[in-house]
This record gives sequence, C-alpha cells and structure tokens, in this order.
Amino acid sequence: MVDQQLAERYQSVTQSVAQAIAAANRDAGEVTTIVVTKFHPAQMVLDLLELGARDFGENKDQEAAPKAAQVRALDVPEHRWHFVGQLQSNKVKSVLNYAAAIHSLDRESLLGALVKEVAKKKAVGEFKDIDVFIELNLTDDPERGGMQPADLTRFATSVLESPGVNLVGVMGVASLDNQIEADFERIRLASETLRTLKPEANLISAGMSGDFGTAIQYGATHLRIGTAITGPRQYN
Ligand SMILES: *Cc1c(COP(=O)(O)O)cnc(C)c1O
Repeated sequence: MVDQQLAERYQSVTQSVAQAIAAANRDAGEVTTIVVTKFHPAQMVLDLLELGARDFGENKDQEAAPKAAQVRALDVPEHRWHFVGQLQSNKVKSVLNYAAAIHSLDRESLLGALVKEVAKKKAVGEFKDIDVFIELNLTDDPERGGMQPADLTRFATSVLESPGVNLVGVMGVASLDNQIEADFERIRLASETLRTLKPEANLISAGMSGDFGTAIQYGATHLRIGTAITGPRQYN
C-alpha cells in the first residue's frame, strides 16, 4: 500500500506542474520532475515508482549508493538517478555506478575526476558518457556550490573538450526569496550562452518545492522537487 499522504502530495504537485506548464504555453514533454528523496528510505522510492515517478534525486553518495542499489535489486520499472549535491572527486567512482546525470559539475578538478573514472569504466565494459549539467552559483558566497556565470563560457569550453562527459545544460538554485525571478532569468541567460557553444545542451535544471512554478516560466526543463512531494525530511 502506497502511503496515502505521499500519494496526495505527489498528485497535487503533478497537477500544479501541469498547470504551470500550460500557463507558460509550454509543452509537457519538455519538463521532467525529479523527486529529491534525500533523507527518505528506499521504500519511499518504491512508493513513488508505483505512483508513476521515474526520476529521483539525491545529494550525498553515502546515502544514495545503498538506496539506489536496494531499489535496483527489485523488480521495478526503469528509472533514473540524478546526483544534485556538491560532489567530492573521491565519490565520483561510486556515483557513476548509479547516476544517469550529475547536476553539480562546478570545477575543473571534478571534471578531471569524471574524465578519469568514465575512462576506467569504459576500459572494462560497456559504459555511456555521463550526462552533466554545469552548476551556477548565483550568490557571492564561494562556499555554495557552482561557478560564477561569468566563468561559464571558459569552463563549458573545457567540458566540451573532455571525453566521457556529455554536457546537457545548466543548473542553479535560486538564492534569496526576493530574488527568485532575477535568479531564474540569470539561469535562462546562462543557458542561452551555453547554447551558442553547443545548441543541444539546452536543458535547465532549476526549481524546487517553493519556486518550481516560477522556474517553469523561466524555461526550466528539470525540476528538483523534494519536500512538496516527500513531506518534511527527518534530520538526525
Ligand atoms: C534538497 C534539494 C532539492 C529539493 O529541495 P526542496 O526544497 O525540498 O524541494 C533541490 N535541489 C537540491 C540541489 C537539493 O539539495
């Protein structure tokens, strides 16, 4: 039995997403909802699969690796894991075992680790290039993940020259509540810049529980929604 409250939240968010897409005159096929399941058990992922969710997000390898393995061991529909958190280079090898996409590529050293680990995987078996989004930092705080939009062209050029990684778009987290629209506009402009280098890299990972409606207006293609669907996270 799927948790009833989870089902209600999932349906309600799905409906709000559909309404925002229609209001923005966009096509539903352009927008993927990633349910961010961090701090929640594998059972919730199984429930969400039953409800129709197929894309899941996690931000810590220590938590995601066993959860993804638990789910994969069962007879479940095809699904994808998205790594959305700050990623340490020494975790790349593990993340590549389950993630279909990494949304948080934000520095040369991480790019280097990805190139190296993808090459190792290709040497021992069949392995596809890893999809990556370049994460933007929309604040002045260097502690936050992401790179300054001004550095995007230089870094994107470097990513495009790197084997094993497939650059698909940009990712961002809106900063302050009173700046959400300005932040999403900056992400949209960064996406335009990236498309001058690679037209197919047209994905935009933006929008969370509190701001996905606005993100859809500004062209988001990949929403990362946690609490609005999962309910509050249990920190311990
Ligand atoms: C946790 C997380 C989310 C989801 O946040 P909610 O506010 O719960 O929707 C989205 N993106 C990233 C990078 C996260 O770490």
